[in-house]
Amino acid sequence: MEIAKIGIVGAGQMGNGIAHVTALAGYDVTLTDISAEALARAMALIRKNMERQVSRSKIAQAEMDAALARITTTQTLTDLGASDLVIEAATEREAVKQAIFDALLPHLQPHTILTSNTSSISITRLASRTDRPGKFMGFHFMNPVPVMQLVELIRGIATDKDTYNACLSVVERLGKTAASAEDFPGFIVNRILMPMINEAVYTLYEGVGNVKSIDESMKLGANHPMGPLALADFIGLDTCLAIMNVLHDGLADTKYRPCPLLTKYVEAGWLGRKTDRGFYDYRGEDPVPTR
Ligand code: NAD
Repeated sequence: MEIAKIGIVGAGQMGNGIAHVTALAGYDVTLTDISAEALARAMALIRKNMERQVSRSKIAQAEMDAALARITTTQTLTDLGASDLVIEAATEREAVKQAIFDALLPHLQPHTILTSNTSSISITRLASRTDRPGKFMGFHFMNPVPVMQLVELIRGIATDKDTYNACLSVVERLGKTAASAEDFPGFIVNRILMPMINEAVYTLYEGVGNVKSIDESMKLGANHPMGPLALADFIGLDTCLAIMNVLHDGLADTKYRPCPLLTKYVEAGWLGRKTDRGFYDYRGEDPVPTR
């Protein structure tokens, strides 16, 4: 099936990146959000990020201009009715996503593929409440979208082959690489990454190392480009905790229990870079370890 029009729900961190890469790849993009500010911020950010690509000769000015012209923004969800593919990237709350699908479904064409960029909600459960479980799947981009090469494609129990292949061809047209994952908590990347981050927090909690020694050990000893605690701050400690809870609940195995120290940082509101403090304090010129 030929996909020409892509609708994106949510213009936050992920939605603006998804609009950026899909528009550059030549798709007609409609980006919607309930917040006018979020839409304005997203367009400004897309422009800024594309300008950086132009200045580094990664794309031509004409490509940038054409891509920006292909993006339409709207606060009216039902404007996505003409889309061939919808990528939902709204707030990570099941009730929010459910309400979006309920409102959107009556306006979609029969062939439209519906996908969610969710990091942790069951694709099968989301799909089961729509009129098209066969045409529903997970389309999981990594953050920041324009930079990260991987897209996880997650099949719900009912996702049909044509839907999977249509999404795979979109990933290929974006110049990205797809990893195929079955629908279990955390899919592939978070199933492996989050327990590692959580174990790094346990290592800190138990006093085996401090923030600096833990991050340096994994950078220099395991060749990771970023230490696990610095990475946790980048992702957001609330997000890390939420994903550990999904693994813990969904897989019902105590090996996924979130570290009490991670919970404590979240309770303090020390959520990482977005609040200027997490395992590091970002308020000064250079990040300073908080333990
Ligand atoms: P975000 O908070 O930056 O953006 C969410 C946006 O959704 C906001 O602009 C909000 O106004 C909008 N929104 C909320 N309700 C809406 C509605 N009813 N209709 C339209 N828009 C609505 O969140 P984000 O980090 O971009 O995450 C979005 C999704 O992507 C989540 O499902 C998340 O799990 C997933 N995800 C996030 C990351 C990450 O690193 N941040 C990585 C992969 C996947």
